[in-house]
Amino acid sequence: MRVVLFDIDGTLLRSGGVGRIAMERALSQVFGSPGSREYHYDGKTDRQIVRDLMRLDGLTDEQIDERMDDLIQAYLSGLHEELATGKREVHVFVGVRELLDELEARDDVILGLLTGNVEPGARAKLGAAGIDISRFKINAFGSDHELRPELPGVAQQRAREHLGREIAGDRLIVIGDTPADIRCGEAIGARAIGVATGRYSTDDLASHGAYAVFETLADTAAVLERIVNA
Ligand SMILES: [Mg+2]
Repeated sequence: MRVVLFDIDGTLLRSGGVGRIAMERALSQVFGSPGSREYHYDGKTDRQIVRDLMRLDGLTDEQIDERMDDLIQAYLSGLHEELATGKREVHVFVGVRELLDELEARDDVILGLLTGNVEPGARAKLGAAGIDISRFKINAFGSDHELRPELPGVAQQRAREHLGREIAGDRLIVIGDTPADIRCGEAIGARAIGVATGRYSTDDLASHGAYAVFETLADTAAVLERIVNA
């Protein structure tokens, strides 16, 4: 049995900057500043983005934590609003739907998510892309932990509950577009597959220890082969 854990942004889909727009607006509303424009959101959890940006603006962790819940609520409201306008296209990357269909049809694979998005944000983005979140049975979200390296352990625990038995770390396969995705499962021995549909090249992702790398997920048979033989 293998659990295949997909990242969302840059891996399954690109949401046309909707997440960043909603986050900057929420930060402005709640903290009075949208945060540095140079900061990269990819590979981070939502709450980590808030903390990193507001620390850069000189806030203490206490000040950040006081308003974190309000911030996430404001972000989710903005995200829903922005997605509802339909002004920005949520683009599902080539091969993603086919790969999900193939994996879902197998009885030796369980589909899951491992994403920095808080759960309602993940649901909203996937919904806008026409991907039913209920297809993913074992999930770890940014709402489960602020630090991505903690998320594979969360997924492993949920896999144990789902299956009713232990599952070795190397039966978890993380698929993502950033070095943070590739490295997050190191502690439990998870395998990582990098896909260069985000900001990083296949060489970048390979240099962080990816078990396999692909330019895109278009070649369903090739990706599937690496997953089921991982
Ligand atoms: Mg990503």
